[in-house]
Amino acid sequence: MPSSSKNDANAVLAENQRLAEKCARLETRLSAIDHNYELYRVLAETATDAIISVDSAGLIIYVNESVGKLFGVEAGSLVGRPLMSLIPVEFQASHEAAFAKFQRTHEKTMNWSGVEAHIFHSSGTKIPVEISFACVQDASGKYSFTGYVRDIRQRKATEEFIRRRIDDLAHVHRLNTVGELAGGLAHELNQPLSAICLQSDLLRHLVAERTDVEQNVIDTLSDIAMQAERAASIIRSLRAMVRKSEPSRAPVDLNEIIRSAVSFSNHYTNHGKAEVKLHLQACLPTVYADRTQLEQVLLNLIYNALDAMPVSQKDDRVCIIRSQFDPQSPSILIEVADFGQGITGDDYEKVFEQFYTTKIHGMGLGLAICRRIIQSHGGRLTSGPNHPRGAIFQIVLPVSHAQLEQDSQL
Ligand code: ADP
Repeated sequence: MPSSSKNDANAVLAENQRLAEKCARLETRLSAIDHNYELYRVLAETATDAIISVDSAGLIIYVNESVGKLFGVEAGSLVGRPLMSLIPVEFQASHEAAFAKFQRTHEKTMNWSGVEAHIFHSSGTKIPVEISFACVQDASGKYSFTGYVRDIRQRKATEEFIRRRIDDLAHVHRLNTVGELAGGLAHELNQPLSAICLQSDLLRHLVAERTDVEQNVIDTLSDIAMQAERAASIIRSLRAMVRKSEPSRAPVDLNEIIRSAVSFSNHYTNHGKAEVKLHLQACLPTVYADRTQLEQVLLNLIYNALDAMPVSQKDDRVCIIRSQFDPQSPSILIEVADFGQGITGDDYEKVFEQFYTTKIHGMGLGLAICRRIIQSHGGRLTSGPNHPRGAIFQIVLPVSHAQLEQDSQL
């Protein structure tokens, strides 16, 4: 074979070889694309969130099954329809304007991520949803949009439940505070009022036999004694009234109560970056107790711990809550520890006294109420130093043998 023909044949072979390799590479890429496509298809099909894709004209090009369930329609029937048909009437104008502006300027004028809105199920039910959308540009420069619509009924119901529980707790706390105030006032006023009753009575008897004292003076003295007694009885009945509600006791899981109080404290407060950490012993025995009252105690201790570590404190802004079962006693220990300024000297007992406060807006009643609640459950509430700094509050609640036996049967 002449050498030029041989060279041509070799060049053809080399080209064939190059094309075969290119084909193989393309096939590998194609199967990777197929695999990715399959992956995203399965993800979209199995997602519990409703997923919708829309083309540049705003027409639906893809929906998963969850869209059908959320809107109460046959999912396939939505393809080809305008997205606007799924948007509640009151939002349509603003969405249309924002969409038109995006098409002209490619500028997002609305928040597209995690927006809370509502949609309507075909039955007419209004459903709160969270919506997020993103846009993708194809090779020809056209935009399409893909996003999810998440049913947040459960989340909203939980938020509402928590809000109500916080209101309940605040109400119970107010009642307890009034009760405590009334108790304190009754205690403080009892002695002077008794003294007024006694002395005006004594005076009345002394002057009763004297002829030089006018009857209206005697009557006035009787009046003073009567009014003082009335004042004392008003305060006694006020105290009785606010304490009338019987605590409702049932077997409770203290770990669950701790978690619930912590979640309430998250909603209630804005304590910067102070963190609440939990070290809870698993499977605590249940305690026969009033859940709301114990939640109130824990909330109060958590607030105090967070108050003791203001934002100005640079590090260690951590409140640690522990729970531990002691089978010997048997009892459960709950500790609320912080790394704040701590409690000085002899004040470990003093903090439980009514009206003892070091806060500008404090009332000094929280810990007195907490101790009374824990004592009414047969337990103890004490305070002490935390290491290396801060304070630690300890609750010890007894666990009855009957309760342990009942738990073991579950
Ligand atoms: P208040 O919070 O209205 O002051 P409390 O009875 O809850 O009422 O608390 C009484 C006082 O005890 C507080 O003002 C504070 O001085 C002190 N105290 C309570 N908890 C802590 C704590 N974790 N660290 C330091 N001091 C505390």
